[in-house]
Amino acid sequence: MAAESGKRVGVIGAGMVGVCAASYLQREGHSVFLVDPNTPGEGASFGNAGAFNASSVTPVSSPGVVKKVPGWLRDPLGPLSLRWSYLPSILPYLWRFVRAGGEEKVHAQARALRPLVGATLSALQPLVKDAGAEHLVHQRGHLYVYRSAESLAKDGFAWALRRENGVEGDEFDADELRQLEPTLSRDYVRGLLVRENGHTSNPFGLVSALCEHFVRNGGAVVRAEALGFRLDSGRLTAIRTDAGELAADMAVVATGAWSKPLAASLGDKVLLETERGYHLMIRDPEVMPNIPTADGDGKFVATPMDTGLRFAGTVELAGLHAPPDWRRARILLQQGRKMLPGLAAHHAEDRLSVWMGHRPATPDSLPVIGHSRTTRDVIYAFGHGHVGMTSAPMTGRLVADLVAGRKPSIDIAPFSAQRF
Ligand SMILES: Cc1cc2nc3c(=O)[nH]c(=O)nc-3n(C[C@H](O)[C@H](O)[C@H](O)COP(=O)(O)OP(=O)(O)OC[C@H]3O[C@@H](n4cnc5c(N)ncnc54)[C@H](O)[C@@H]3O)c2cc1C
Repeated sequence: MAAESGKRVGVIGAGMVGVCAASYLQREGHSVFLVDPNTPGEGASFGNAGAFNASSVTPVSSPGVVKKVPGWLRDPLGPLSLRWSYLPSILPYLWRFVRAGGEEKVHAQARALRPLVGATLSALQPLVKDAGAEHLVHQRGHLYVYRSAESLAKDGFAWALRRENGVEGDEFDADELRQLEPTLSRDYVRGLLVRENGHTSNPFGLVSALCEHFVRNGGAVVRAEALGFRLDSGRLTAIRTDAGELAADMAVVATGAWSKPLAASLGDKVLLETERGYHLMIRDPEVMPNIPTADGDGKFVATPMDTGLRFAGTVELAGLHAPPDWRRARILLQQGRKMLPGLAAHHAEDRLSVWMGHRPATPDSLPVIGHSRTTRDVIYAFGHGHVGMTSAPMTGRLVADLVAGRKPSIDIAPFSAQRF
């Protein structure tokens, strides 16, 4: 089918996903504007671990995870916390989350994710090249480290899933790990390095650079909150916002964890939750790993950033409105000091900074990418959960395919909004 160009497209939400979609659409000759009430890149895309992990095919809900949950919830340093007052609101989601973790389903989800995440660096490359932001993206791999052979064995299902999808990991013993990453604690005795993975040393800087390039090329950023859509005989005519209506032939919903009401306004009842995550950063750290490193047990990541050392991770289920619980960020510091013993035992407060962000999560860890139920003029691109930075570039390409009326380059049926 011939590609259609020259449409007026409004991309709602200027996080990594929205900005990648806007950039790909602009490259195809469409007239594109971004709509966001906040500064582009200040949502979840601001403070994440920055990993572009092509290997991230492992859904959050998987066989065995449900059994681990009670232990995690009891452990104050554990990777998961739940505000009990939020439990009634999240129950339907949790029910679907548990059901999504069956072995067969998880294999299918991993297969669906691999082409989305696997293309991360190749899909990002043309955008960063155009934007002159290549210095913000690196390919040094991603290192997963374990304190015992048993804890690596507990992750066996995840590694099998990765291998089944073509991911290769080089295994290191204790001595080899020390040579590879001398800053690491000697408590770590096993490690796997996935060389195809990359990272950005400044997630916010990267989104900002892509967005600035988009504006230099004639794109517009409208500071407004989208409220819904104006349709005429099933065709989109405008995006309704708190600053009035914005005329558009097509719209893309890339509003991350805040996407539910916009999809609902078009009759799509998606199961979307926020998995709140935290980071803690140390400016001028005493030691800095060279490779982004994930602690296999603690489920947090240490990433070398341009502005300091970032520990990021943990999942807190508490909805979009509860205030942050900064103890969750402080826990990352305790764990980080154990991972990198060369760090000081105390840091002056002005060297530390904390952040909380909303991962847009679905029960089956698959994003929502595709047409709305009501009109083909509105395209969804949200719900990327733990891998939104990684999958944003390829999502941008897919959105451009859908806007052009082309068959998407990968199978997007598993990402349908109508699956819930
Ligand atoms: C601690 C932590 C670590 C992470 N680490 C990684 C990692 O290493 N690698 C990885 O791939 N992913 C990681 N993630 C996940 C990743 O950050 C997210 O999946 C990704 O940033 C989502 O991008 P987005 O553009 O969909 O959403 P966001 O960046 O949240 O952007 C959504 C935008 O929509 C705007 N918006 C909301 N409502 C409206 C409205 N009604 N109208 C207009 N605009 C609106 C918001 O203002 C916001 O700017 C991590 C997340 C966390 C929390």
